[in-house]
Amino acid sequence: MTDAPAPQPLMLFNSLTRSLEEFTPVHPGEARVYSCGPTVYNYPHIGNMRAYVFADTLGRTLSFKGYKLTHVINITDVGHLTDDADAGEDKMEKMAAEKAQSIWDIARHYTEAYWADIKALNIRQPAHWSIATDYVPQMIEFAKAIADKHCYELDGGLYFDTTTVAHYGALARAKTEDGEGRIDEVEGKRHAADFAIWRKTPAGETRQMEWDSPWGKGAPGWHLECSVMSEALLGFPFDIHTGGIDHREIHHPNEIAQNQAHSCSDASGARIWMHNNFLIERSGKMSKSAGEFLRLQLLIDKGYHPLAYRLMCLQAHYRSELEFSWEGLGAALTRLKRLVLGVEALRKRESAEPAGQADMSIYQAEERISNDLNTSEVLVIVESIAALKGYAADRLAAIYRMDDLLGLNLATLTRTDLRIRPKSAAITEAEIEAALTRRKEARAAKDFATSDRLRDELAAAGVEVMDGDPLGWDWRLDAN
Ligand code: AMP
Ligand code: ZN
Repeated sequence: MTDAPAPQPLMLFNSLTRSLEEFTPVHPGEARVYSCGPTVYNYPHIGNMRAYVFADTLGRTLSFKGYKLTHVINITDVGHLTDDADAGEDKMEKMAAEKAQSIWDIARHYTEAYWADIKALNIRQPAHWSIATDYVPQMIEFAKAIADKHCYELDGGLYFDTTTVAHYGALARAKTEDGEGRIDEVEGKRHAADFAIWRKTPAGETRQMEWDSPWGKGAPGWHLECSVMSEALLGFPFDIHTGGIDHREIHHPNEIAQNQAHSCSDASGARIWMHNNFLIERSGKMSKSAGEFLRLQLLIDKGYHPLAYRLMCLQAHYRSELEFSWEGLGAALTRLKRLVLGVEALRKRESAEPAGQADMSIYQAEERISNDLNTSEVLVIVESIAALKGYAADRLAAIYRMDDLLGLNLATLTRTDLRIRPKSAAITEAEIEAALTRRKEARAAKDFATSDRLRDELAAAGVEVMDGDPLGWDWRLDAN
């Protein structure tokens, strides 16, 4: 008998200290995670979705390692201005005015679109989706509690004085004095980095979303939302706070400042702050103001299965930039097809395997994921075990277990699921299959003229016939 392998510590990169730290939960056996969610004024682009694939990978890892996970993702339906640092208009109000719709309808529509992407990417449902507008009374209480010692009032609202807390901006590593890169547009602001925690509705105006407060009618600041909702749902302090790397510069330092003020301590709120790097795209298609911007639905319309995008994210480390290209996405889809094909082959072969080899691969996968979520190496382990010859049953079980980390749906995904018909296609699957059957019959009868004609007709309809494709892919539809 071999000894049970030693438990492996989970090492995570903490943006606060810029170093790898061992995860030790605030509450033994539990992991409480808060992820900054989307501002639902528009569709999320695939870069935004990278942030949730990352948060999901973290959640899956914590569950895999046996922690009882409580994950919260918020939905920002009020308060986020067009500039993170308190300049410009409320994104929601602006979109509602442009579309001549109520903010509530806008929020509902884009929240549902976001949830559809979450589902398509096999991102697990968090324990709570916290909706910012549900927490406004608590936000007012929070602001009241810190107003005297940490805030000052201007015509525009209640502002947080960032010099009233220790080490403001430590997370961003910015100089406190100049609040790097901030636009000081608000008259009377004491320091460039100071930010609104309550924005008053200007005199004579009525807003679609406004609430009474000690500082007049208005709406909460964006940063306040996350401080309030994370504490309400996860307690103080909690374990891990996530977001995109842009939040390391303004949003999260501001949350930390509020948390320090509210707790009258140096506690930042979360023990570990983690940030995913950006998905970048050189031609500007990621901009939501571009006509056809990169939404997950666009990928699907072009015939790419959404899990190919998930796999593309997993190939890169979450702290590295990831460059998007259609070629890269195509390569990720091929990789996913191979995996699915390998798993299908294993499923057909029923045999018992002496235990050991497959368990070893699970141990290795845990080791890699425990090293700051090294998903790309887990992917390689899954591929190598799928490609091995020989016994099947244990290997299948091991692959499914490792897929708990990757979330590629390997237990149920089939090759046919992966073949998505591009929206622009003028031919249906049934027509293709019928033409291919006729072509097969023609070839069997050595009628090569008919066989070639059918192939040409299919090619004219954008269908590439793939005789002898190693992945068993009989045909492929090209998107344009
Ligand atoms: P927003 O709706 O703008 O608040 O963004 C939602 C999430 O997506 C935040 O965590 C952002 O930091 C993150 N994010 C925004 N752009 C990108 C990108 N290009 N790549 C990865 N994450 C992003
Ligand atoms: Zn947030």
